[in-house]
Amino acid sequence: MTSTKAWAAQDASTPLTPYSFERRALNADDVQIEILFCGVCHSDIHQVRNEWGNSIYPMVPGHEIVGRVTSVGNKVTNFKIGDLAGVGCFVDSCGTCPSCSEGLEQYCESGVIGSYNSKEKDGTPTMGGYSDKVICKESFVLKIADHLDLSRVAPLLCAGITTYSPLRQWNVKKGDKVGVIGLGGLGHMAVKLAVAMGAEVTVLSTSKSKEEDALNLGAHRFTVTKDPEHLKEHRSYFNLLINTVSAKHDLNLYLSLLKVDGTMVLLGVPPEAPEISVFNLISRRRRLAGSLVGGIAETQEMLVFCAEHNVMADVEVIPINYINKAYERMMKNDVHYRFVIDMATL
Ligand code: NAP
Ligand code: ZN
Repeated sequence: MTSTKAWAAQDASTPLTPYSFERRALNADDVQIEILFCGVCHSDIHQVRNEWGNSIYPMVPGHEIVGRVTSVGNKVTNFKIGDLAGVGCFVDSCGTCPSCSEGLEQYCESGVIGSYNSKEKDGTPTMGGYSDKVICKESFVLKIADHLDLSRVAPLLCAGITTYSPLRQWNVKKGDKVGVIGLGGLGHMAVKLAVAMGAEVTVLSTSKSKEEDALNLGAHRFTVTKDPEHLKEHRSYFNLLINTVSAKHDLNLYLSLLKVDGTMVLLGVPPEAPEISVFNLISRRRRLAGSLVGGIAETQEMLVFCAEHNVMADVEVIPINYINKAYERMMKNDVHYRFVIDMATL
């Protein structure tokens, strides 16, 4: 067993505190990684606070992990000690179902095994990246290029792939009109990636204060959504809407912004079920879709795309003891645009 230092939630209502636990001994196909940086995703808050009703405690959150390989099992072929490596939102899947066979491990028919708040095949709870090390099956570990700022790469492992995957799935190309709803961790990556793919990008935000940042991120237009009147000018305008909103909001307001055959992809997971106006959908053959992170092969492809296009997250690097404050700030939409924990502070 491998003793591991971490920060954990012990229940849904108290702050995260220091915690230590044992990770499994290295299996033959495992890679052990010393964690250097871990991004802070809003999914961490949803799960720490049991907002999805499926939380297992104690919980060590964190699924935007980058670090350096410190040990490898004797069947590992793709990594060696000293390599940079990343672990994202999941660490195992059945490997044989139709989804896994297509490289869509996130849609594994037996249920993908999350990096935390999940259970390994043997029933052991998984523990995430707010910790000093992680042990992960080689086939779920990502290669990270050497010359990049690792604190800015970490968020690609969730925010990056979660926005890249639907942009690719809906075949975003030059001139497509893409709207990004919510300018937080996912939203700001959606802007950078859609711009890199040649789209004309509009940010739809509740925060007037984020306008300048949105344009600096590469967005072409910015609209404050607090007043529904402002949305009227975008009616039947977008090919694709990437919805990253983490809290309850009116989807119908945004659906009406899609042109014929346009799609709104839900990425954000507010705990409350939304109400949908069917008229809104049928009146322009609009589509409402969802998307969950991305498979391992697509994540590696995204990392290459980001390295080629110099796309990285805009981050505020924090010490681990700032984590509860960071959560508070994210709940007030005060995130610019991803908090990333420097694990040397653990
Ligand atoms: P985040 O950094 O906290 O950003 C969320 C943004 O949503 C806020 O900054 C805010 O942007 C906007 N927002 C918040 N409350 C709102 C409201 N009531 N109405 C309208 N807009 C609101 O969160 P994140 O880490 O990007 O995650 C966003 C969501 O995606 C979370 O629900 C998370 O669980 C989910 N997620 C899903 C996947 C997936 O695979 N589908 C993966 C990762 C995360 P403005 O200030 O611009 O309005
Ligand atoms: Zn995430």
